[in-house]
Amino acid sequence: MSVRCNLCGCEEFRDMGNRKNCICTKCGSYERTRVMKLFLDAHSHLEGASIFHLAPERGLFAHLSKIAGEYVTGDIDLERYSHIPAIQRVDLCDPETFRNLGRFDLIIHSHVIEHVPCNYTAVLINLHRLLKPGGIHMFAMPIYGSAFEEDLREMSEAEKERRFGQYDHCRKFSPVDLDRTLGAIFPIPHEYNLLDHFSESTLDEANIPSIARQGYTGHSVFRIPDVALRL
Ligand SMILES: [Zn+2]
Repeated sequence: MSVRCNLCGCEEFRDMGNRKNCICTKCGSYERTRVMKLFLDAHSHLEGASIFHLAPERGLFAHLSKIAGEYVTGDIDLERYSHIPAIQRVDLCDPETFRNLGRFDLIIHSHVIEHVPCNYTAVLINLHRLLKPGGIHMFAMPIYGSAFEEDLREMSEAEKERRFGQYDHCRKFSPVDLDRTLGAIFPIPHEYNLLDHFSESTLDEANIPSIARQGYTGHSVFRIPDVALRL
C-alpha cells in the first residue's frame, strides 16, 4: 500500500513538533486537511458547486478551484494569501461582511475560529446562514485540554501562546465540554470516529494517524448540514 497525500499525490511528509510525518512536503496538507478531502470526495454533488473557503490552504485551494462552479476565497489578512487570485478581505467580526457574500453549497474553514476576536457563536451562525438549501458547513478547530477557554482582552503574544497554544489565538475548545459549546449551536455526534465513514486502509493510504481517527481533537472535521442549526 502506498501512503500519499490525497490532495497532491506526494508521498513525503514531515514532522510538526511531536506530530510525526503529518505535513505533506509538497502542498502542506495536515491530517485534518486530508480528512476534509476524504469527506469532500464522499459528497459527490459538490462538482460545480458554489464554494466559500476561508483561509484557503494550498492543497485544498487547488482541488476546490477545480471542482467548484463558483469559488470564493476569503481571509482577513490578504498579504498572507497574495498567491490566491481574487481572494476577498473577510472580517468575520463585522456583520456587514456577511451581507455581500452570496450563498454557497459548501462553506469550509480549518483552524480559523480560534483566531476570531469576537463572539464565535455569532460567527458560526452568520457563516451557516450563507448556506444554500442542502449545503454543508465543514470545519475544524483546536480541541484539547479539560475545558473551553476564551479571552477577548488585549494580551501579549506570549500570553496567548501560553493560554491558547499559539500567539494569535483567543480561544480553545475542549472535548470535555464540547456539547456545551459547539454542541449548543449544532447537533454534533456524541462520539467522533472516522472508522464509521472510512475503512482503515483508506485512512492509512491518506496518512491519517490513529490520534486523528477517534475522539474529538483538533484533527476532527465537522460537517454540519444547512438545516442543523439549534438556535
Ligand atoms: Zn499534498
